[in-house]
Amino acid sequence: MRSPTELVQVFRDKQMKLTPQRQLLFSLLHDNKSHPTAESLFDVARKQMPGISLRTIYQTLGELAEMGELQLVDLGNGATRFDPNMGDHQHFVCDSCGAIHDVDITSAPRLRAGSAEGFAVEEIGVVFHGRCNRCNTNHGQQDSSSNKRSPGLQAKK
Ligand SMILES: [Zn+2]
Ligand SMILES: [Zn+2]
Repeated sequence: MRSPTELVQVFRDKQMKLTPQRQLLFSLLHDNKSHPTAESLFDVARKQMPGISLRTIYQTLGELAEMGELQLVDLGNGATRFDPNMGDHQHFVCDSCGAIHDVDITSAPRLRAGSAEGFAVEEIGVVFHGRCNRCNTNHGQQDSSSNKRSPGLQAKK
């Protein structure tokens, strides 16, 4: 995804709607590696701009995705996530806290679907599951605290 300043220019050039709400979203999404859902962006955005609507969030996300600035990520757990990282990458999902991390993978194109003869495979998506660094570190210790889930990174249900 381009920088918020560049996006403002692009929106101006295309004479697309450019409101403070949209610009807030540009900056919330820029360099955002948490793979947020529309709802979680809404939660953050309305703290800074109470008048913002979920509808605006969806519209802006949709436009950015259409422009190729964002990709939609569906990791099979229901919620669509938005990812400003347009580079070729896959995802790691922590089954303990729900955090999603980018994973660079170089050998995916060599994967073969054994029983997919006759199918035209256009894309291969790999999702890694396990425990993130933080959960892994906590795991070995005697965990007496009940607070082992991170509220900030938890997937919204
Ligand atoms: Zn974790
Ligand atoms: Zn990603």
